[in-house]
Amino acid sequence: MDLGVDDVAQRASTGDLPVEEHVTSLVAAAHARERDNTRGVVADYIPVLAEADPDAFGVAVVEVGGSAHGAGDVHRRFSVQSISKAFVYALVREELGHALALEEVGVNSTGLPFDSVTAIELNDGHPMNPMVNAGALATTALVPGSGAEEQWAFVARGLSRFAGRTLELDPVVHASEAATNRRNRAIAQLLESYGRIDRRPADVVDVYTRQCSLLVDAHDLAVMGATLADGGVNPVTGERVVSAAVCRDTLAVLAANGLYERSGEWLFEIGLPGKSGVSGGIVTVSPGKAGIGTYSPPLDRAGNSVRGQRATAFLSRSLGLNIFASAVHTPAARGAV
Ligand code: GLU
Repeated sequence: MDLGVDDVAQRASTGDLPVEEHVTSLVAAAHARERDNTRGVVADYIPVLAEADPDAFGVAVVEVGGSAHGAGDVHRRFSVQSISKAFVYALVREELGHALALEEVGVNSTGLPFDSVTAIELNDGHPMNPMVNAGALATTALVPGSGAEEQWAFVARGLSRFAGRTLELDPVVHASEAATNRRNRAIAQLLESYGRIDRRPADVVDVYTRQCSLLVDAHDLAVMGATLADGGVNPVTGERVVSAAVCRDTLAVLAANGLYERSGEWLFEIGLPGKSGVSGGIVTVSPGKAGIGTYSPPLDRAGNSVRGQRATAFLSRSLGLNIFASAVHTPAARGAV
């Protein structure tokens, strides 16, 4: 995977972001570098997604102190799709606790596409991790509530708290996916046959399909990511959404599984937890520093936004976000920008 950043010096990961003006200009540079890149293909397996504007492109950064930076179409709305998996998992992990979440949903990669049925069969019905559809459906089944409506209310309210505003469902996207999501229905049935979900499979798929149809923009994704970067407190609203331990666990899952079967390459190139979705969004989290949200619909073959990956790679290098990038310790370097 060539993300076009060989010419960008890797800044070491320190405790802090550079000064704000520098962040603003690097966000603008990330957008300018990729604006004319037309590589990738817009998803069409959910029919309405094929109508997305391939030229739409936004890059947003929200710092844990609450400052926001953006370039391009940062307020263009799109359905959150798989990115919802990260935040529903965080909400469910909060309810279940560390050990039960590990046991019931898992954290290990499948190495297979996100909607694989084979992965379930190869693992005795275990859903494996919450970023593939089997694990996401198993996670949604664990959302508290006496039925689908209560579960949906919990999910919609929880994701809205991450975003700091009330997120709304796109009825057109929802109808398009609900009419065509036979594979997800099959996955839910298979999980039920293995005793992995104890709610009606159709209800679980219904709540999952609704969560995927919530509308966000790149700025929302940056705020949601910044909440996971900030020990679970939304830096814009000041509201605690989840605990710091939940952020830690969620980010570990994202680092291992967030970019479909290219998660290893993403970690190698970018060195940060992230989650992408087939509508073209990517949320990336720099723990203790910031959230990054990008939106650009054309995808690579795994389902990751091409421009989004490249813009994020540039920001990871130039802002010094890669958690694996250290510099030799010298006392004099302490506090240096
Ligand atoms: N709602 C989509 C599905 O389940 C999400 C896919 C994705 O963004 O990876 O097929």
